[in-house]
Amino acid sequence: MGVLGSSSRRLNRFVHIKNRIHRKISCGYIQNRELSSNYSKNDSILPVLIVGAGPVGLVLSVLLTKLGIKCAVVERSMAFSRHPQAHFINNRSMEVFRKLDGLTEEIQRSQPPVELWRKFIYCTSLTGSVIGSVDHMQTQDFDQIVSPISVAHFSQYKLNALLIKQLEAIGFTIRGHEGLNHRHLPEREILMGHNCISVEPTDNFINVTTSFVKEGKHVENQIPCSFLVGADGAGSTIRNLVGIEMRGEKDIQRLVSVHFLSQELGQYLMHEKPGMLFFIFNPGAIGVLVAHDLKQGEFVLQMPFYPPQQKFEDFTAETCKRLIFKLVGRDLADINVVDIKPWVMHAEVAEKYLASENRIILAGDAAHRFPPAGGFGMNTGIQDAHNLAWKLAAIIKGIAPISILSTYEMERKPIALFNTDLSIQNFQAAMAVPAALGIDPATANSVHQIINNTVGTILPSTIQKTLLDGIFSLGRAQLSDFVLNENNPLGSSRLAKVRRIFEEGKSLQLQFPAEDLGFRYREGALVPEIDSEGAPIKPEPPTGRRREYIPSADPGSRLPHMNVKALSEVKKEAIISTLDLISRDKVEFLLIIAPIDSSYRLALNVLKVANEHNILVKVCVMWPNGIVNGDARTKTSLAPWENYIDVVEVRQPSNSSSWWDICKMTHRGAILVRPDDHIAWRVKSAVVGDIRFEMNKVFSAVLGL
Ligand SMILES: Cc1cc2nc3c(=O)[nH]c(=O)nc-3n(C[C@H](O)[C@H](O)[C@H](O)COP(=O)(O)OP(=O)(O)OC[C@H]3O[C@@H](n4cnc5c(N)ncnc54)[C@H](O)[C@@H]3O)c2cc1C
Repeated sequence: MGVLGSSSRRLNRFVHIKNRIHRKISCGYIQNRELSSNYSKNDSILPVLIVGAGPVGLVLSVLLTKLGIKCAVVERSMAFSRHPQAHFINNRSMEVFRKLDGLTEEIQRSQPPVELWRKFIYCTSLTGSVIGSVDHMQTQDFDQIVSPISVAHFSQYKLNALLIKQLEAIGFTIRGHEGLNHRHLPEREILMGHNCISVEPTDNFINVTTSFVKEGKHVENQIPCSFLVGADGAGSTIRNLVGIEMRGEKDIQRLVSVHFLSQELGQYLMHEKPGMLFFIFNPGAIGVLVAHDLKQGEFVLQMPFYPPQQKFEDFTAETCKRLIFKLVGRDLADINVVDIKPWVMHAEVAEKYLASENRIILAGDAAHRFPPAGGFGMNTGIQDAHNLAWKLAAIIKGIAPISILSTYEMERKPIALFNTDLSIQNFQAAMAVPAALGIDPATANSVHQIINNTVGTILPSTIQKTLLDGIFSLGRAQLSDFVLNENNPLGSSRLAKVRRIFEEGKSLQLQFPAEDLGFRYREGALVPEIDSEGAPIKPEPPTGRRREYIPSADPGSRLPHMNVKALSEVKKEAIISTLDLISRDKVEFLLIIAPIDSSYRLALNVLKVANEHNILVKVCVMWPNGIVNGDARTKTSLAPWENYIDVVEVRQPSNSSSWWDICKMTHRGAILVRPDDHIAWRVKSAVVGDIRFEMNKVFSAVLGL
């Protein structure tokens, strides 16, 4: 069935491929595994095609390639976007990036120093008085107790450039249509200028059609693939082609983004009031300025935009410059407006993440679009890619059946719904300060709606515009020095209200450690834990405020971080994180145990059962702080198996907890970790009964065998 009519013609050349792959009629686990192992055997079908070379598509292609999976990316633009857009990389995304060789080091080297971006500043103009400021970095954000890495402030287009560099280093080439012919299978390529226009699922592959312009004509190209990932952004073509609806709140706010450069402004702010976000309120203009890089003088101004009375075409470079000067409080001699873009804020999640029997998958903004408050958009997408990569690799390598992909939606969709709520709460918190200053943005939106719904039908558009501008400038008059000062009773009570908002942490937040690191899958590729009444444990609802991360070894949580040293290298200084024990290039599970007889017995059974199912498992034996040798015991206890590592705890001076204390377990317990660092199963004390039987049940539940 052709999903898009315009190019649904079948190609004869695929018929022979289709006929060669016989449908397995038998049912159950063996049939699924045989079918899945075919994915890597047919050279005429690309195992994974990714549509969209945004951060999510690029991260997914690096992760898959590192796991040994052939893939390619198609991107409709001829060049990578230079619009800065996302800039806050949260803790968990940085942990994922630690798995990509040298990426975090490059981000840390290239990002501005934290002193230049740790604050949000609220002011009447960039050169005028400061209403208040909020520092979003706390001591624990730097001490590496809960994570081996900190957050980063780095523009999306710069991140994309580093990801492309990573891809080139692992053999990818970037090309347009040169040298393409109908037999071309673009393995390890990013095809630029290729707009995906149709997808046609057949029994054994997805036939994807892209269109590109060659010598002024539209030419079509077909790419057969086993799995198609739509990482094609908020307006996803793939989502629309397969008919998946978005659910939630549409069109919350229309905005215009102005990307501009000014060394003069950068230098001024660097010395006078360094910050990441500047909320500027004055009678002439209101806007939010994102300082992407003060040293380089790179900024994006976000302004609300009210069509149809305001037209996007009215935001010319000249108009934008004049607005920027009003917000700065003076003219800038070196301003260079690079780009002006309209965008719409939504809070929506796709009703489904999967289509065509799990062979078409949505990731990133294609699956969810949030208000950009708290930096959840790109970060949630990067974590979608991390969840998806090992599952796709497990299917293509014949370790898991295709049904495991259902757990991708089961795990990631609740996180997207939760992050939607959190982003809305945080967006509402962003409105608290202007509301306290007497310019509630909700009122502006209501006024706009009233004009649209009432006078909009009878008044000419120029008069509607004048009316709207008049009402808005009356509103902004609340911000004049005459009103907003401590000697004016109204101004002083408004300023006191704003101070209370800051003191109580009720303004827009940047960091959500409990959610960034502590998000947990409740059901999916794991053995869930249930509460004392037998019900699955529910997440705590978001509060919109910063909450600290509390380490947890509950199934579905990310493995807690602790510094350890390999016992064989204990005299050397090499300290690693428990997160580094998980393989970067294999679909391998990690079993963490203490060096006691019952746990060695468990490990032997796990290794045997895993081997029977062709599943890789490494055993990590966690020795208590201070031990200097003991690896001989593991060698004899686990013989003949050799896939193990002995590590010793390195306790932090400020935190003397043992590994098992951090995990809130006894040392008689054990933890099985998935290839994406999330806990698949754990036992709080020793396994009772038939261990082999138990472990068979565990792997069947986790991998859907
Ligand atoms: C102003 C603003 C600030 C933001 N700040 C943050 C932040 O600080 N932190 C954060 O985490 N998020 C932030 N976000 C959100 C973030 O930018 C997005 O979540 C992120 O870009 C999503 O990445 P993606 O790869 O899923 O999609 P995109 O970046 O949109 O990439 C999709 C790609 O697919 C391509 N494409 C589309 N259709 C087709 C087709 N038919 N064929 C081929 N290619 C196609 C597009 O050209 C594009 O290159 C912000 C967003 C905005 C608007």
